[in-house]
Amino acid sequence: MGTQTAVVYAEPGRAEVREVPLPSLDVRPAPGVLPRRCDHGVIIRTLATGVCGSDQHTLHGPGAAPGMVLGHELTGIVTEVGRDVERVSVGDVCSVPFNVACGRCANCRSGLTSHCLSVNPARPGGTYGMGEGFGGWCGLQAEFALVPYADFNLYVLPDADQAGERLLDVALLGDVLPTGYHAALNARVRPGSTVYIAGAGPVGLACAAACRLLGAAAVLIGDFNTERLAHARTVGFEPVDLSRGDLADAVAEITGRRHVDAGIDCVGASASGLDGEGTPPAAAFNDVVSVVGPGGAVAVPGVYPGGGAPLGVRLGGIWSKALTVTSGATPARRYQDELARAVLLGGFDAGKIVGATAVPLAQAGDAYARFAAGAGRKFILVP
Ligand code: NAD
Ligand code: ZN
Ligand code: ZN
Repeated sequence: MGTQTAVVYAEPGRAEVREVPLPSLDVRPAPGVLPRRCDHGVIIRTLATGVCGSDQHTLHGPGAAPGMVLGHELTGIVTEVGRDVERVSVGDVCSVPFNVACGRCANCRSGLTSHCLSVNPARPGGTYGMGEGFGGWCGLQAEFALVPYADFNLYVLPDADQAGERLLDVALLGDVLPTGYHAALNARVRPGSTVYIAGAGPVGLACAAACRLLGAAAVLIGDFNTERLAHARTVGFEPVDLSRGDLADAVAEITGRRHVDAGIDCVGASASGLDGEGTPPAAAFNDVVSVVGPGGAVAVPGVYPGGGAPLGVRLGGIWSKALTVTSGATPARRYQDELARAVLLGGFDAGKIVGATAVPLAQAGDAYARFAAGAGRKFILVP
């Protein structure tokens, strides 16, 4: 069996580039599932594969095994199709949604591809490159990758040449664009809405971009990272430096009211310590809740750990204002067609807004370290 270059988990907090075996349709793709040839899968040659905040959770979490291939954001060209694949052909340029989904279970049939019942023996929902707890599916930050259930999972881009020209926009269709858009829809953003987004990382910026698509009147983004806040300003959003003063004062200064219509937590459990000693893991969420007005909606794409660890959520703030809260992993495939049209036909320059920046796959270790240090960029690895 031949080898290829891939990004692997090396040790807690560190990713590195190594040679790993090429993927094959002949072997079962994940432990515990599919103990047979993957005839419903395809092999994809990578054109672009993103580095995500979620990869940082994998690098620091308990689920990664040394040598495991990382990554879950892939755009590439199909090079081999399994015997049972009907609507994807060799040469197609595809975006891979980050959720692994079978397309056959009750949850997939209802559109909840984020919680497929067949691809992870541990619990509903599977993802590439996050270890056994997410189904053990091989990561996508490699020269080639296997994608199962290809007919159901893949979004085939309408024009391969156009996709190549817009690669840094198209590369966002697998995760951050659907995630930002799903959150904006769940937060009931509409024309004229005022929105507060916690976190100016790629997910926060993608969400801000989605809010703009949906007609929001003012999109405020809060963070402590001045490089990211400066970038948010250059692409037309209202930055809020959380190290300076009161959030409601900042909201009032920009919108004329002390509350917003919609709030979105694009941070998740705070492990950075950026906001000081003694802050609860739910600090960003609590900020969002504090500035959303009565009857408003809060969406939470940021990841919070399952299990019993106390997060310090101020439930009273939610109850007293009758807020609606939605959360969880995004069913990314649901939104890819419309977002691709917004990018390819509608001039939606998502890559520029998110700060998408191409980096050679061989320099992935450096890109991971710069991202972890808070660079105001979304790194897209290119073989
Ligand atoms: P990131 O780590 O690059 O961005 C997070 C940002 O939040 C950083 O800029 C950080 O400085 C800032 N921050 C920290 N504490 C803050 C606070 N209290 N208030 C405001 N900002 C604060 O990560 P990312 O790639 O943008 O992803 C964001 C989150 O979304 C992560 O938890 C990631 O795992 C998650 N995510 C979820 C989904 C989903 O399907 N729900 C998909 C992709 C990513
Ligand atoms: Zn991601
Ligand atoms: Zn399923």
